[in-house]
Formats: sequence, structure tokens, C-alpha cells
Amino acid sequence: MSGVTFNRNRIKLKKLLGIRARLALLALLLVAPLMVERVRALNDTRDKQIAAAALEYANITQHSAETQREVISSVETMLKSAAYIRASGGVARSCEILRASLPSNLPWILSIMIVSRQGVVQCSTLNIQVGMNIGDREYFRKVQETRDFVFSDYLLGKTNNRPIIMAAYPVAAINPDEDAVVVAGINLDWLSKIMTNFSGRPGISALLVDGAGIVMAAPPDQSSMIGRPLDNVPLLSAIAYKALSSNSETGSMSFSATDATNRTVSFARIPGTQSRLIVSIDEARVTAAINREIRTAYLQLAFVCLFVLLGALIGAEKLIINPIELMTGMAKRFGEGDSAARVARSRLPAEFMPLARAFNAMAAQLSQRERELVATNDRLTVMASIDMLSGLANRRGFQSRLDFEWMKAQQSNSELSLLMIDVDHFKLYNDTYGHPEGDACLTRLGAALADIAADTMGFAGRYGGEEFCLLLPNTGPQRALEIGEMGRAAIQDLALPHTPSSHQIVTVSVGVAATLPNESQRPGDLIEAADAALYAAKHRGRNTVVEHGFAKLVDEVGMAMAG
Ligand code: GH3
Ligand code: MG
Ligand code: MG
Repeated sequence: MSGVTFNRNRIKLKKLLGIRARLALLALLLVAPLMVERVRALNDTRDKQIAAAALEYANITQHSAETQREVISSVETMLKSAAYIRASGGVARSCEILRASLPSNLPWILSIMIVSRQGVVQCSTLNIQVGMNIGDREYFRKVQETRDFVFSDYLLGKTNNRPIIMAAYPVAAINPDEDAVVVAGINLDWLSKIMTNFSGRPGISALLVDGAGIVMAAPPDQSSMIGRPLDNVPLLSAIAYKALSSNSETGSMSFSATDATNRTVSFARIPGTQSRLIVSIDEARVTAAINREIRTAYLQLAFVCLFVLLGALIGAEKLIINPIELMTGMAKRFGEGDSAARVARSRLPAEFMPLARAFNAMAAQLSQRERELVATNDRLTVMASIDMLSGLANRRGFQSRLDFEWMKAQQSNSELSLLMIDVDHFKLYNDTYGHPEGDACLTRLGAALADIAADTMGFAGRYGGEEFCLLLPNTGPQRALEIGEMGRAAIQDLALPHTPSSHQIVTVSVGVAATLPNESQRPGDLIEAADAALYAAKHRGRNTVVEHGFAKLVDEVGMAMAG
């Protein structure tokens, strides 16, 4: 029972998995591993690219921080030298030296000032600053407290209201008796310039942020951020918070920002200051290119799959299905009797050639045999309607000719006559000369009748035994009677000896019947009439010709006389 179900399922599956489906499946099996490998490779490349980008930006961050640090330490060095100068001389003298010695290769230092304990600028490399009071600045109070370097947060310059940060160093650190402070203004534009590296990179934000979270410097394309507190920018504040809340000097971290983007943040504290360089990378934007590439690759793969599938289907159609259908069609045509049907080999793939050749050879052989069979059949049909002894048509042949001529005469409304010719006293002939001689006699008579048929456009046959017939198309009773007489005379003229006969030679009696074939008559009626006339001819003493109408008359007269 289960075996039957299994078999049924197998048949269903076979139907479902036609050649096309199987080839398509095979094509997919071949392409799928390649596809999977390609997708895997692309994802791998993407991960590597993200990692490489993160590393690259971490390095840039480090490098930038390093450069910023160099700037800062150059400021420290400058301030220390200024403090030495101030410690070793009075204000006026120190100022002179300071103005003369501010090197031009430190463009980020805007100015150097010597400031009194109260915060009054006593001397500056920028004249405009002299006399200004910076005692209210937090960094100024802090430097007096700590007696060490102090860097301010983001400030606006007192003289020009431009963004600036200040560095301060107390002269007391060198000479405790001195209470002056040396102060340098640092050009923030210069710090921004250092960040040009980060400019024009999609998905990258780089900011130099002071201890209070105010942006001090940014690459040119993000310069609008300078001076703004990061708190105003939700995304960046989150990033800054992450960076500023970290205890380490440098580091990097990945997190999902509030805008649902995955970000990697690298940060580095500028040594000696509260400021930090923060670089954030939007992974999605950095990897946008590779993502695009992956999408293109997926599309390409889809197309390749589609093409492979189509190729498999078209290939199956062209290489297998079509040839099979072509050959099936030919076999069908051949089976329906088109013996000329042959497979056109030029339209077949090479693998089908032997099959096509075998089919064509079989078809050729079968049609040759059929031709032979038809010829044999024709010969048999002819033989079946010919009498071998007389060489005339036999009864069968005569009958079908009579039917044909009857129909023709009926169609053309023409007359048709029939002569029935019987050898007189033939039994006696056989008895006298023997049966073989009788046969020879019949052969002679047949030949004579064939001549007459040829002369009269008639059709001669051997009706049976020693009885012959002559069918005369387009012939009326008068002419038929004449031809009957011609036949009788021709036999008599042969003068074949027949001693027991009253005429001493072989003679025949002839019955003639003529008609205009019509629907109410049958061919058999004509035979019957001719037969009746022959009967009458025998009655009249043989070796004579009697026409049917006449026979009827004579019979009627005979019967009247007898009555
Ligand atoms: P009638 O004049 O009345 O026709 O007399 P008949 O003897 O010819 O007629 P009947 O019908 O009595 O005899 C016909 C004979 O023809 C009998 C038969 O031996 C002979 N016969 C018929 N067919 C053949 C044949 O093929 N060969 C030979 N040798 N004789 C045949
Ligand atoms: Mg006879
Ligand atoms: Mg007879």
C-alpha cells in the first residue's frame, strides 16, 4: 500500500521536475556557492574598510592632538623665556627684549604680555593691549593660585572680541619675589588650520572642545561650530559627553547616537590643558561607498542568477525540448501517412544526429516497403481480374468494368450494349478433342474477341466456362447487332474443326442487349437481357445472333404458334 503511494509521489515529482526545472535547479546549484562566496567576500571587505577607516581617523586624531600639543608646548616655552626675562630685569627692559625676541615662526602666538599682580597689562608685543585689565579673567586668578601654567577656556578677546584662548605663567615660578604674570594670546584660527586634515570627509566631525564644552577649533567646513557650546547640538553633545566623561587621555569608543547612527568617537586630551580633540565617525556614511558597492554586487548577482536561469531554460528548450518535439512531430506525421516526413538534421544538436539518422533510415525503409506492397497489391488486383486462359478480363474484371461503364453511360446519358457469346456444343468438342484442346480453342476464341473489342472500342471478357461477353459503350441496339454478327462471323471464319457439330466447325451463338442506363435499371438487368437473347439464339439453332427485343418478340410469336 505504502509502496503504491511512494510510486505515485515519485511520478508526481517527476512530472513537476521536468527537464527544464531540473536544468534550472542544476544551474542554481552551480551558481549559489559562487553567490554566497561573493556576498561573504563583500561583507568581509566592508568590515575591513570600517576597521581601516576607524584606525585611520584614530591616527589622524592622535596626530592632530600631537600637533596641538606642540603648539601648546611652544607657547609654554615662550612664556617661560618671557618669565625669565621679566625675573631678571625691570618691566621696561623686559618689554624691550620681549618685543625684539617674539619669533615670527610661531604664528599661533598672537601676543605676549607682562601683567601686574592686579591684572593690568604693563607691556605687550601688541601696543593696543597695554593698560588693559585682565584681573577679572578666571585663568588669571587661577595662575596666581596654582603658580603654574594655566590655559584658559574659550574666550573672546578684550580688544577685538575675537575668539581666543590665553596661556599664563607666573614669574613667581622663577623668582618668588616677583608677582607679575606673563600671558600669551593664542590664535584659534591657527588651531583650526591644524584640523584641515579632517575637512571634506563625509561622516566625520572633528572638534577641539575646551573644558566647558565650547568648540574652540574646527576644520574649515565645520567652522560655524566655533564658539558654540556643544550642549546646543544634541548629537555632538552626546559625543562630547562620551569623550569628556572618559577618564583616559586618549581613546575611542563606538556607540549608537540618538539619530540611530552608529558612531565611532576618537578623542585625545591636549596635554597640559582641559581641551580635547574629538573626532566622530558616522560608520554608515563612511561605509556608504562600500554599501553602494555591495548593493550593486547584489544586483549583479541577481542578474547573473537570472541570466543563468534563463540560459538554462533557453538551453534546455533549444538543446533538448525542441529536438524532442521536432522528432515527435515527424514520427506523428509519418504515422498519419506522410511517408515523406523526415527529420531535418540541420536543425538538431549533434547528440540527436544518430537518433535522427536512425529515424530517417527507418522511415525510408518503411516507405520503400509500402511502395513495394502497393505495387504487389496492384499486380494482385490486376491478376485477380484477368483470365489466364483467354487473356481477357475474367468475370470479376468484367463486372467492375460493367459497373463503371454503366455509371459513365448514366452520367453522359449514352447507350450501352452487351453481347453474350457462347460456344456451341462445346461439351461435345471437349468430348471429341479432349479438354486441353478445348482450352486451346478457348484461347483462340479469346484472341479473336479481343481483336473485335479493339476494333469496336469495346471491352471483352470471359464470363465463365465457354461463355464470353463484349461490353460496348456508346453503342445502340442496331450497331450492337452488327458487331454481334461481326463476332459470330469472325469465329466462323476461324474455321476451327468441330466434326460432331452440324456446322463441322466451331461456332458461337450471340445474345445482344442494349439499353440507356437509368435509375430504374441495374447492370444485372442488362446481363439478364443479353443472357435471355443468347438463350433465344441457342433456341434458334445456334451460330446466330439475337437481340433482346427481337428475342422477346420471337418468343412471344413462338409461344403463340405453340399455343
Ligand atoms: P450448347 O450449345 O447448348 O451451349 O451446348 P454445350 O455443350 O456448349 O453446353 P454445356 O453447358 O452443356 O457444356 C459446356 C461445356 O463447356 C462443359 C464443359 O466441359 C465445357 N467447358 C467449360 N469450361 C471449360 C474450360 O475451361 N475448358 C474446357 N476444355 N472445357 C470447358
Ligand atoms: Mg455452349
Ligand atoms: Mg454455356
